Amino acid sequence: MRGLVQGVGFRPRVWHLAQQAGLVGEVLNDGGGVLIRLRAGGEALMQALHENSPPLARIDALELRVYTGPLPESGFHIVASAGGAARTGISPDAATCPDCLAEVNDPHNRRHRYAFTNCTNCGPRLSITRAIPYDRAHTTMAAFPMCPACQAEYADPANRRYHAQPNACPDCGPQLALVDATGQPLSGDPLAQAAALIKAGKIVAIKGLGGFQLAADASNEAAVSHLRARKRRPGKPLALMLRDMDMAAKTVALDAPARALLQNWQAPIVLLARIGKVAPSVAPGQPRLGVMLPNTPLHHILMQALDHPLVLTSGNVSGDPQIIDNSEALQKLGCIADYFLLHNRDIANRMDDSVVQMAGNTPQTLRRARGYAPAPLQLHKGFADLPPALAMGADLKNTFCLLKNGQAIVSQHMGDMKSPQTQRDVRHNLALYQKMYDFIPVRVAVDMHPGYFSTRLGQKMGEVVPVQHHHAHIAAVMAEHGLPPNAGPVLGVVLDGLGYGADGTIWGGEFLLADFRQFKRLAHFPPIALPGGDKANTQPWRNLFAHLRAAFGPDADLREQFGPLPVLDRLEAKPLQMLGQMIDQNLNSPVASSAGRLFDAVAAALGLCFERQTYEGEAAMQLQAMAETCTSETGTYLIYTGKGLTWEKLWSGIFYDISNGVATGRIARRFHNALVQGIVRNTLAIAEDKNLQTVVLSGGVMQNRLLFSETRRLLQASGVAVLSPVHYPANDGGISLGQATIASASMQAS
Ligand code: ZN
Ligand code: ZN
Ligand code: FE
Repeated sequence: MRGLVQGVGFRPRVWHLAQQAGLVGEVLNDGGGVLIRLRAGGEALMQALHENSPPLARIDALELRVYTGPLPESGFHIVASAGGAARTGISPDAATCPDCLAEVNDPHNRRHRYAFTNCTNCGPRLSITRAIPYDRAHTTMAAFPMCPACQAEYADPANRRYHAQPNACPDCGPQLALVDATGQPLSGDPLAQAAALIKAGKIVAIKGLGGFQLAADASNEAAVSHLRARKRRPGKPLALMLRDMDMAAKTVALDAPARALLQNWQAPIVLLARIGKVAPSVAPGQPRLGVMLPNTPLHHILMQALDHPLVLTSGNVSGDPQIIDNSEALQKLGCIADYFLLHNRDIANRMDDSVVQMAGNTPQTLRRARGYAPAPLQLHKGFADLPPALAMGADLKNTFCLLKNGQAIVSQHMGDMKSPQTQRDVRHNLALYQKMYDFIPVRVAVDMHPGYFSTRLGQKMGEVVPVQHHHAHIAAVMAEHGLPPNAGPVLGVVLDGLGYGADGTIWGGEFLLADFRQFKRLAHFPPIALPGGDKANTQPWRNLFAHLRAAFGPDADLREQFGPLPVLDRLEAKPLQMLGQMIDQNLNSPVASSAGRLFDAVAAALGLCFERQTYEGEAAMQLQAMAETCTSETGTYLIYTGKGLTWEKLWSGIFYDISNGVATGRIARRFHNALVQGIVRNTLAIAEDKNLQTVVLSGGVMQNRLLFSETRRLLQASGVAVLSPVHYPANDGGISLGQATIASASMQAS
């Protein structure tokens, strides 16, 4: 059996079922899966396993074969792995299971209120793994020898903790400590004390499963705004932890898929419409909240003492990833947190919380880390015969991907490669994953961007295969949906921020004819200058200026056309003449066909994030939130001409609306309507022209639910099959998956 079958209690489950059925044989871990040898009864056992597989297991494939080797004479046995080289896969970290939670809540249980309770069906995995094979000595639990009671559980195949490597109890396992910002310990029960401090409005840094988190009472505006000010994070929404489903039902709108997502063992952050009251500073201007349920006993016990949602945001210094080390936390978070809830189990691998949203009834993964990595993706069986490939991903939201034996293993989200700490994480994780999967890179897929850190790192690791950014976005979706390596071409519609184009310019609003081996650029958004280069990514007014200049010409007098408008006054306060010259002379003003920068420009025109964005995507998110307030608005602007997309009429339409006093929300909605209609018409025209039946929608801008859902709905209504990202991000976190499949599939051709 292959899939997620190692380290998840699969062998004991096989043992149980075989014992029950009186079968004779043995079970062992083998290479990438679990091998069961039986004298008889194989089919019935397979059936029983499918019906009763362990909670964390995922069976991707099973094969039945005739076996002629030696077998036990009687009984059923769990035996050691065949051959020293056999590798036990490492499963993702899993949220506390109901059995463990019941023990933690039971005053008569020896694990009552024990924050590190876990079993074969739950608990830390990748986050504590230092080396392979996966056993206790190779995890950060090595420092805690098991007591006799824990050892007995560990050795008993009938016990829920059989071979549970992180097994622990209050007598032998990790311990909590609560200290103040100077490191002085506080007396009393650390969890009860931490809860009391949070209730009193304090900010507590918590050593969570995969890194430090900063906690504050989400109903306390003073505490939350303090946290924002101290963390220098003015606008980006903060995630909330909710005690249980009752609290969830009072805080966000829940339907069946949302309930299932919140409660599954990955316990991700889910973005859901807010219905309850939280402090205004939690998510200013956002109609949705990012919420999650407790994922460790520590979080469960803490939340049980709280009556309100808890802000739980990553404990990092801006730009850097989460801190994982006690002393570094005290040193770097000392000016943010009032108190520290620490423990003495090391975090071996940083693991951010995963983030998922619902688009219609489809989940979309925005960040894939805790709970999901390193679970493999079973690709179409055609990939099994192709050469392995390593892919380095992109520089923002970096992940890497190993492709081997028809499986793609995408790393956890690591973040922005500008941070030296992220670069260290990437090297560290690459080394660990290569060992975990016995992987030696030969060909290494990289982005075409010559300046990417990930590209340069890949060049040091092997023979590189450059892959175009948006081609990779499309291939990732094809891979996730199980398309074969020799699949016919699809029409990929990628709405993105910035990606390096095959012609050396920057792309980001692309209509590509693509398969796993090659692509052709069929159409694209009009290229518009980015005056000031990188500055245009954070200062939306620059994009507004460049767009207006392209739409109306350098000498147009917009005041004459549209009357005196505040936005024109604001714009004219900027050094426009100099910027105009820079664009004309091609100085630090590369052109980009970017969808993301179009959103920034429109947001700026409506006064949203005009000066600057405090985080990536802020302007676009605000524009979307504005548009979502005007559900009944059906007005639009004309952007499709029959020959492609142009922005001239879009801009004159927006400015006429502004000068006529049309509400900002309606203009935002009309812009979304225009973009949806323009993209759909352009897509259908190309699909008909090239006789294509399948459209792939991806790119970071497609995380805009309004844009995505409407575009998909209209395309499907026109009879086109639409594929879109589900379990791998539409943003650059999905790039590595696409790169790896392209590199592997194109090697077959060469
Ligand atoms: Zn458990
Ligand atoms: Zn113990
Ligand atoms: Fe991208």
